[in-house]
Amino acid sequence: MSIMERFKLTNKVAIMTGGASGLGKAMADALSEAGAKLVIADLNGEAADRVAKDLEERHGVPAISVEVNVTNEKQVEAMVDKVIKTFGQIDILFNNAGIGSHEKVENMTYETWKKQLDVNLNSMFLVSNAVGKYMRAQNRGVIINTSSMSGIIVNTPQPQAAYNTSKAGVIMFTKSLAIEWAEHGIRVNTIAPGYMKTDLTREYYEDNGDKVKKWNELTPMKRPGTPDELGGLAIYLASDASSFVTGSVFTVDGGYTAQ
Ligand code: NAD
Repeated sequence: MSIMERFKLTNKVAIMTGGASGLGKAMADALSEAGAKLVIADLNGEAADRVAKDLEERHGVPAISVEVNVTNEKQVEAMVDKVIKTFGQIDILFNNAGIGSHEKVENMTYETWKKQLDVNLNSMFLVSNAVGKYMRAQNRGVIINTSSMSGIIVNTPQPQAAYNTSKAGVIMFTKSLAIEWAEHGIRVNTIAPGYMKTDLTREYYEDNGDKVKKWNELTPMKRPGTPDELGGLAIYLASDASSFVTGSVFTVDGGYTAQ
């Protein structure tokens, strides 16, 4: 098979959690363009529906939406059932849904701490297990988890211990699962983006205050990334082009963590 053939995702089924917005939406777009059937799984059902319809229209490949809270075990099971009923298989799982906040530990409620750990990390346990049973049965699959450069370094000046901790956990969960499921033909990798302009960071960019100036100053490329700059990596990791890659962390951060 030629190298460009290996990037194709024709006949593959991909779930993108948090696919209704930002990075998830952009990476779902890339996977759909490469030929994958897409499941946009998001808390925001209406937005997920709009994204799925748009993908179908622009790329001519089936796409569905599922409204799901990835921290709710029953909803996750129902989502996976729906995908299997609709498409009969799951080849790619992108655990991407995430939240964050800027708060010092001493000002943070225990609820806030737990919620970030729950959405950003514990959900990956739930969704990977619900999908993993099908991937193990078919003896193949790809899981990609969205971490952050904040899982590797503590970015400043904002305090975000819960976010950083959850994202570091994503990296170790990825490596652990990669080792456990290698024998089942399942590859598990993680991406670690730097500052990206999305809904998650919109308020800071719109404000264009000291925080954003600092972020750009601390990034060697002196700018935030745009969601579409993750598309190539998403296709690479989801496809056979990365067939010997598992347990790896991919930073996409304009050089931030290289310093
Ligand atoms: P975003 O807010 O634009 O999108 C997040 C999506 O996740 C939303 O559509 C939201 O509805 C969904 N979501 C949130 N909680 C959910 C839940 N419980 N169940 C299902 N869906 C849920 O944010 P984004 O910037 O696109 O972030 C996507 C991922 O990328 C997150 O994991 C985030 O931590 C990570 N990340 C973002 C940046 C950045 O600078 N934007 C940098 C590094 C990593």
